[in-house]
Amino acid sequence: MDCVVAIDGPVAVGKSSVARRVAVSLGIRHINTGAMYRAVALKLMRLRGAGPINDNAMAEIARNARIELPREGGVLLDGEDVSEAIREEQVSNFTAVVADNAQVRDILVEHQRRLGSEEPSVLEGRDIGTVVFRNAALKIYLDASPEIRVERRVAQLRRKGLPANREEVFHGLVERDRADRARATGGLKMADDATLIDTTHYEEDFVIDLICALVREQPCFQERLAVRA
Ligand code: C5P
Repeated sequence: MDCVVAIDGPVAVGKSSVARRVAVSLGIRHINTGAMYRAVALKLMRLRGAGPINDNAMAEIARNARIELPREGGVLLDGEDVSEAIREEQVSNFTAVVADNAQVRDILVEHQRRLGSEEPSVLEGRDIGTVVFRNAALKIYLDASPEIRVERRVAQLRRKGLPANREEVFHGLVERDRADRARATGGLKMADDATLIDTTHYEEDFVIDLICALVREQPCFQERLAVRA
């Protein structure tokens, strides 16, 4: 049994915010695996542009990328803070291509397993409960209707002062969901033993409290959290 909380779910369901707040609340590590795929995509775009590139060359670049997830949040690529750069539209689109490469996935999954085995952690992504940590102590699958996910993404963009067209956000979201579900390895799928939380009608605070309560019921977390208390 791995002392890990695995959180999976579709685009804009609120995984990152929920995972970060659960980790802060419990005093454990947060590992945003989407940021790792995005960092590889950014490195590739900087080195080679967004044009076609063969699978082995792509994997070689991923192998040589030094990706760090500092405890205070964000992501470092070869020592540089790229937390903002990885959120750009072009990078988001190219990340889907990178995530389709099975060799890149193997490299990042190994890195994620190493990080998650070091200490109790919350990992979020698409394949955490199905591939990365099949024996996670707790698996959560977050879902919400596409309409509410669009609303959440639009609100998030507006908070950052970025333009947000509902129609475009909706199409982008549906397309990324489709690509994430269609992926042969590591595609988005709820693990058979995951707890499904449909957040459509829930406030985020309620979801955080619910997940924290479920984590505290897990013996492996009880032992580790008690040691830290
Ligand atoms: O979570 P986020 O939306 O930032 O992830 C960006 C992309 O990285 C996803 O759309 C997906 O294609 C890919 N990804 C993945 N497996 C993960 C996390 C992210 O394939 N565990």
